[in-house]
Amino acid sequence: MSNVLPFKKPSQRERARRTTVCRSGFHKWEVDKKKQFDVKRGKLITIRRCRHCGATKVTGD
Ligand SMILES: [Zn+2]
Repeated sequence: MSNVLPFKKPSQRERARRTTVCRSGFHKWEVDKKKQFDVKRGKLITIRRCRHCGATKVTGD
């Protein structure tokens, strides 16, 4: 392959690499401790946020 991408700032390369990892399904989940109660369901839940792309997921039970 001769299709070499031009040089970018390390920070941008790092972000791009992380985002690529996220797209592959490997998010870096961190627990969001601020919101751990689902008012609608009336029960405790755990919200996790990806520190790379900001995606969130909720786990309960
Ligand atoms: Zn992510």
